[in-house]
Amino acid sequence: MRRGTNVHALGGFNQIVILDTIRRTRDGLSRVEIAEQTGLSAQTVSNVSRRLLDEGIIREAGQRILGVGKPRIILELDPTGGYAIGVHLDPAVITYVVLDLDGRVVAHHSTRTPSGVTPDRVILDMRDAIEAIIDEAGVDRARVLGVGIAAPGPLDLDRGVVLDPPLLEGWHGVALRDALAAATGLTVLLEKDVTAATVAELWTSSAHERDDFMFFYYGTGVGVGLAIAHEAVRGATSNAGDAGHIIVDPDGPLCSCGRRGCLGDAIMPRRIVGRAISSGLIAAPGDRLDGREVDEGLARIAALAASGDADASTVLDEMADRVAVAVVTIANLLDLDTVVFGGPYWNRVSPRILGRISASVNSSDALVTTHPIAATVSTIGDDVAAVGAACLVLDDALSPRPSALLISG
Ligand SMILES: [Zn+2]
Repeated sequence: MRRGTNVHALGGFNQIVILDTIRRTRDGLSRVEIAEQTGLSAQTVSNVSRRLLDEGIIREAGQRILGVGKPRIILELDPTGGYAIGVHLDPAVITYVVLDLDGRVVAHHSTRTPSGVTPDRVILDMRDAIEAIIDEAGVDRARVLGVGIAAPGPLDLDRGVVLDPPLLEGWHGVALRDALAAATGLTVLLEKDVTAATVAELWTSSAHERDDFMFFYYGTGVGVGLAIAHEAVRGATSNAGDAGHIIVDPDGPLCSCGRRGCLGDAIMPRRIVGRAISSGLIAAPGDRLDGREVDEGLARIAALAASGDADASTVLDEMADRVAVAVVTIANLLDLDTVVFGGPYWNRVSPRILGRISASVNSSDALVTTHPIAATVSTIGDDVAAVGAACLVLDDALSPRPSALLISG
């Protein structure tokens, strides 16, 4: 449990401790309960609560009778007290969400990622889209706590730089965090896409419900977000989760790494659709295979499989088996008990392959864990990485940290 301190100079820290205590209790808390849980004095809790009420960050939510004595006024987070913007930059789609202080999505917008334009242009488009979604949500701009942005790795998180994502054309060493902060005048936090998706799942599941899991991200690229003991795993440079070169088919096509049958190459949407076109399963939609064509191609393969086409069924069955090999490898390594699937293209293939993946994983001779692996689909949907990016902003604004004590002290 986080304990506060009654030293006057640390009022800011106490405020965050109290907010954090309130927001973690769904039904709200009385001032007496807050004092008990934080170790702060009744006077400190009273003063800070008054300030938070005045600022519209918490609100009174009726009275509750607890044992003997007079009824106590319950305090709860006011969802309209603050908002976070989440942006997800995928090579095919850019998604924007606005979350209230309670983590609920109050506005959503998505747009195709423009191709053939500079990152500077894309960042200016992002600025316009952020301003538009703040307007659309009817949110007081002064209550926007910041912007979280999820982007494909590798990233240099310390410098806020998108280094060289293999699938994001023209993005080499782009200082995305600072450029977007300068363009919007808002605080911006950067996170790897798969980690952001994992953070969103952590926010929407209670502790112990989902503690040790992987988020299997199926976007333009394929990646894995990891959570252990209900915490996102980031690694030494916050680039954890690159599963692209796990070998899932030793006789598969040659990968850029020189080996055969790597996961990313085997199941990447563009590759699946490309192979279906060259084998004559589906017609080529045009000269280029951009995000829209890949999406439509996957949908056509899934529809063919659903109508009983044997070749289309084989394509998706093989994909399911390749995914299962990777899931078993990662689940074994980290003793995970759940895999959550999601990302922009996942829903195209999920109805057909989720059951087969689950069966294949749990019947695998290579699975050494003593418990079954649950295979589920993200309930957050296509917005998952954007929601996770916004959750980072809420976490940053609302979570007490010892470093705040050091600075104040
Ligand atoms: Zn490879």
